[in-house]
Amino acid sequence: YLEAEDGLEAFKTLLGNPVDVVLCDLEMPGMDGLKFLGMRNSRPELMHIPVILLTGSESREQKVKGLEQGASDYVVKPFDSEELIARVRVQLKLKRLQDDLKAQNLKLEKLSNIDPLTEIANRRALMRALESESQRSERRGHPLSLLMVDIDHFKKINDRFGHQQGDLVLKAVAGAINDGLRDYDLAARFGGEEFTLMLPETDLARAAQVAERVRAKIAGLRLGGRLGSLQVTVSLGVASRPSPDIQNVDDLIRIADDALYEAKQEGRNRVVVASSS
Ligand code: GH3
Ligand code: MG
Ligand code: MG
Repeated sequence: YLEAEDGLEAFKTLLGNPVDVVLCDLEMPGMDGLKFLGMRNSRPELMHIPVILLTGSESREQKVKGLEQGASDYVVKPFDSEELIARVRVQLKLKRLQDDLKAQNLKLEKLSNIDPLTEIANRRALMRALESESQRSERRGHPLSLLMVDIDHFKKINDRFGHQQGDLVLKAVAGAINDGLRDYDLAARFGGEEFTLMLPETDLARAAQVAERVRAKIAGLRLGGRLGSLQVTVSLGVASRPSPDIQNVDDLIRIADDALYEAKQEGRNRVVVASSS
């Protein structure tokens, strides 16, 4: 355990150490228990640490104030040590449950943004990121680009090699798209055998270069095992904002998708860049 002389020292100790429960006298020299609680409350990362107050029996008003300020419990002085230990145990148990719950939530939050097969972002994560990047791009007047990537004749790959081998192709293509990105780029599985690549701070010309690089990289992929004889290709559509045709995220996706459709029409294994009407 750690000791502190007064509220301020306790607060500093709390900031620098992983603490499970705080025992705190209401009356302390310097910063007292209530002020200490106030300081703790100003830090969201400290809010979950339970504080048990030690109070004189006469200070009923103080007890109420302490509880209102977020103390988890109080023990009246002179205290019975067995009671104190029991109350500390209760708080430790609650804290552990809360910590577990938080860890579970964090895990679920992560899982809910990831496509389990390819282990890259899923459509939900993409939509979130696109919304926030689109707003940012609008605020700052900076460009934002989106690539739509669709595997060519993927149905034939499934038919020829089976669904399981098809899944391996999906993983390999996802890996190739996700490889070598900047921190703020986001590759996602949009659905089925369709992927997206979001490129903030990237204009149409630069995005077209990235798209061509992705196309060439995938056309050059050599897969192992039964897929050794297979050449996988993708078609890509590229769109960017700002553009007179693009007011929102749905427009950006639609225009990139239209360009992708054109790439398919023109023969596949190619990049088509959206031109504004
Ligand atoms: P195109 O060149 O026009 O894109 O033709 P395509 O065959 O790739 O396109 P189509 O949309 O006709 O077929 C997509 C196929 O992708 C159909 C579907 O069975 C397959 N597919 C979708 N999700 C998965 C998956 O998770 N695993 C596997 N193995 N196949 C999938
Ligand atoms: Mg396809
Ligand atoms: Mg498709």
